[in-house]
Amino acid sequence: MPERVFNFSPGPATLPPEVLRQAAKDVVNYHDTGIGLIEMSHRSKEFLAVTEEAERLLRELMDIPDNYKVLFLQGGASTQFAMVPMNFLSPGKTATYLNTGTWAKNAIKEARLFGTVEVPFDSEPTKFDHLPDDLDFSSADRAEYLYFVSNNTIFGTQFKEFPRTKTVKVCDMSSDILSRPVTVADFGLIFAGVQKNMGPAGCTVVIVRDDLLERTPATVPTMFRYKTHADKGSMFNTPPCFAIYVTGLVLKWLKAQGGVEAIAQLNRKKAELVYQAIDSTDFYRGHAQRPYRSQMNITFNLPTPELEAKFVKEALARDLNGLKGHRSVGGIRASIYNAFPLEGVERLVEFMADFARQNG
Ligand SMILES: *Cc1c(COP(=O)(O)O)cnc(C)c1O
Repeated sequence: MPERVFNFSPGPATLPPEVLRQAAKDVVNYHDTGIGLIEMSHRSKEFLAVTEEAERLLRELMDIPDNYKVLFLQGGASTQFAMVPMNFLSPGKTATYLNTGTWAKNAIKEARLFGTVEVPFDSEPTKFDHLPDDLDFSSADRAEYLYFVSNNTIFGTQFKEFPRTKTVKVCDMSSDILSRPVTVADFGLIFAGVQKNMGPAGCTVVIVRDDLLERTPATVPTMFRYKTHADKGSMFNTPPCFAIYVTGLVLKWLKAQGGVEAIAQLNRKKAELVYQAIDSTDFYRGHAQRPYRSQMNITFNLPTPELEAKFVKEALARDLNGLKGHRSVGGIRASIYNAFPLEGVERLVEFMADFARQNG
């Protein structure tokens, strides 16, 4: 077995090898303290420094304004599907959601437990293969918030520009946070499970504007109130120490790559290579319609499910792992987040051409 293969997994996903090596060392003995990172009190000065550094790097890389809090929470991105409406919606009030994929749909289901939900855009009838063309959502101006998913991990669509509205924008950026520059000040709340593009499983980052912390109804339990965690710097209870620490290492790595602007350029290049390979033959068919294609998750089909299974198997023999599409769509999905190397994309593209020639 080779020490490392190219890992196209959608999440948890590939991490930079230097981050993995550093983490492996620090788990046993953190900075020569004689204590492993995951054995250390979350209130020790060493670990407080870890959290501060992760927050500082995230603020720097995303240019997060001072009137926003950064929270490191547990429960995965899926807990945010409930926490958002719990904090910002209540009976008699309305929120607007764009139904662009499985993760949006799951969030809509949760929001309906708390208030009225309007869904002015829904691409489910065409298997979530597109996004709205008209980004004017002034229809949501009077709603408590407009909720959408920036990158639809399963179907492979991504907003190039974001919907416009006067109300608060809430965005699930789990699968494309830090992959391109965004203006945080345009959003009320951004959240992301870190296991796609910024770390291991176990931590969800929430970036929330200060004034919104006051909106939570008095009936919401302590652990589910954003303010609880904001007031205590994510240390109200034991935070996901290991995941915060590795996220910090990934952020440091990203900064060394030149930051978000530089990685965005590389991401564009990587995605273009795969889309060119899809478009250069009739053998492959992209799932997402062209204008909405994702740079993170590239979804496509082959002429038959049998050929798709053969593709996945032969790819594996070439050390290209994790290309099977999500069980709900089938086909192939190549997830190429920030840490996925250009070399792996080149190897995939080469394999795609060979496979089409031999099986087309
Ligand atoms: C993976 C994913 C989720 C779910 O994340 P969990 O941490 O497993 O709850 C939510 N939204 C998007 C966009 C995702 O890609």
